[in-house]
Amino acid sequence: MDAEIIAVGSELLTPHRLDTNSLYLTEKLNGIGIEVRCKSVVGDDRDSLAAVLRAALSRSRLIIMTGGLGPTEDDVSREVVAEVLARPLREVEDIRRKIEERYARLVRPMPANNLRQALVPEGAEWLDNPKGTAPGLWIEEKGSILILLPGPPRELEALFESQCLPRLARLGGGERIRSRVYKVVGLPESEVDQRLAPLYRPYRNPSTTILATPGAVEVHLRARAASDAEAEALLNELGDKIELALGDHIYSTGGETLEEVVGMYLVMKRMTVATAESCTGGLLSERLTRVPGSSNFFLGGAVCYSNELKTRLAGVPRQLIEMHGAVSQPVAQAMAEGIRARTGASLGVGITGIAGPGGGSPEKPVGMVFVALAREPSTQVREFRFPGDRERIRHWASQAALEMIRREVRH
Ligand code: AMP
Ligand code: MG
Repeated sequence: MDAEIIAVGSELLTPHRLDTNSLYLTEKLNGIGIEVRCKSVVGDDRDSLAAVLRAALSRSRLIIMTGGLGPTEDDVSREVVAEVLARPLREVEDIRRKIEERYARLVRPMPANNLRQALVPEGAEWLDNPKGTAPGLWIEEKGSILILLPGPPRELEALFESQCLPRLARLGGGERIRSRVYKVVGLPESEVDQRLAPLYRPYRNPSTTILATPGAVEVHLRARAASDAEAEALLNELGDKIELALGDHIYSTGGETLEEVVGMYLVMKRMTVATAESCTGGLLSERLTRVPGSSNFFLGGAVCYSNELKTRLAGVPRQLIEMHGAVSQPVAQAMAEGIRARTGASLGVGITGIAGPGGGSPEKPVGMVFVALAREPSTQVREFRFPGDRERIRHWASQAALEMIRREVRH
């Protein structure tokens, strides 16, 4: 069975709010073997909603509509469903009582328009909403199932999980969908695809999608089978080939971020890191400290933007900066070695570069970044030319530093 989702709410058509309910629903539906084939976002407008609903009823056997069930005039889902299905709205005594009781418990007077939520299209089953007043609705119409859920995510999630998911799982034919994400660093998307296309092309199940993200490439596999174990076996069959083809460019298979993986290795090795950052302005430290438990491996860092602070905080010799310029291999190296020596960390990282948009020259163009990693007794320095704007260059630089640490501590 395939599903279609309709998210209702004019706020979802503005730049300020995003439809996240459909992401939640898709994840849960996939878990019970139901794929989402189509979704729409529609404002609180009777005619538009009626048109979208009619189209959905003509093509989908499971339609989930979220939002528009509130008590106010602009919440029209209930009325539009009643109209499109030609089923009159009837007040349900039990719902009315529950709403009244809820207000009594809160010791608040109940605005009369709340009783609109007790109206249910004929033949519909209502689903108790433990976290709010608007009940959900379950309607069967000419072989299709139409489910209406309240918009607020915590209400929708509680209601869907307890009252819809088990029921849909029984209808769904018992198929399971399992997915896996390989995160890849150090190879461009085209290279990843060139290596993988001959491997995944023969397979329709699992399906494969390759996605470029800033600083990394993700390979998404989705397998459908009668059981979780069989779906996992399908993932393993193709996954083993992918792991062989990409080798140590894969840094995670369980959703971990690069900084989490680096943190895990550092803890395992009982090693620590300290940073001296110029063009990244602390971004590397920020990413390292996103990891819970980072105090076990991250000692701290210095943002040394000016030449003077490169000398004062990281001990970079003044003459070195005068001779080679602040953005240079020797300065990156001295920053890494200096911060390591001053903090006593096992690893010191130095980053210096030109993030742009100004400040570039023919010899030192925007995007030129040096990253150094100091570990007794030696230091490695790499020179990069990153594409894109200031934001991307800074992100790439932090990504490159994390990747250098990962390679250093992985074994
Ligand atoms: P409603 O049931 O239409 O009155 O929605 C109530 C509130 O739920 C809205 O103001 C939004 O904050 C939230 N909401 C509605 N639809 C969605 C959605 N698709 N994704 C995330 N939040 C939503
Ligand atoms: Mg709304």
